[in-house]
Amino acid sequence: MSLEPGRTGEPELKAALDQCPRLKPGDEFPFACAGCGDCCRNRRDLVLSGLDLYRLARWMRLGPRTVAEAFCRREIGAASLLPVLVLRPSARTGDCPFLEGDGCAVHPARPLACALYPLGQSIDPDTARVEYFPQLPLCGTTAPGRTLSDYLEHSGVTERAGADASWAVECTRLSDLLRAAGGREHPRFAPAVRRIERALYYDYSTRDEFYPQFRENLDTLYPVVCKLLGIAP
Ligand code: SF4
Ligand code: SF4
Repeated sequence: MSLEPGRTGEPELKAALDQCPRLKPGDEFPFACAGCGDCCRNRRDLVLSGLDLYRLARWMRLGPRTVAEAFCRREIGAASLLPVLVLRPSARTGDCPFLEGDGCAVHPARPLACALYPLGQSIDPDTARVEYFPQLPLCGTTAPGRTLSDYLEHSGVTERAGADASWAVECTRLSDLLRAAGGREHPRFAPAVRRIERALYYDYSTRDEFYPQFRENLDTLYPVVCKLLGIAP
């Protein structure tokens, strides 16, 4: 399940998510991937965060914008109004562009949604509280005794959880700002969105860590966007 960031604005989707059973860190989650590659096939909805793009770019030794141009399509989130990068599926197969055989060609740098799967994640945009829920029925095979904490650690999710939560919170803040300013009807909506896209996705050196650059980008971004939209910072 890959969602655009920000408040979804879709009550039915929110209600469905609210009904999914949440797992606590010590709860059993005895899942192990069987490596079939099915979750990568016919994959058209994989939304990247800025950290996802940065990790792919660093792994490929390319710039974030180059990777985005080669592998992503750009959208404006229907509900969030934010710029969103979605992995562009292979024109021939409809599969994720990184699927090779049954395996992932970018496994060490795979996006968060892939590292989590078959877990889903929900982040409260006001408190940054993160919750995890299994997407049932589970695929794969079993790993007896494994807990949610074990799985998150093993999948590399734990080490990036703080940055991912912060991303969700800041995207919601930016989305709220765009909507409060009148959204697409605002005459300077397009330049504001372009400026946000740079700060969220492109203005990163892969020689330096992601998170400090993200904070710095946002510190610069808010006054610029507020000025563009003519609202108080
Ligand atoms: S990035 Fe890798 S794990 Fe994720 S959908 Fe593509 S091939 Fe699968
Ligand atoms: S996560 Fe599930 S669907 Fe994806 S490769 Fe592993 S077993 Fe297959």
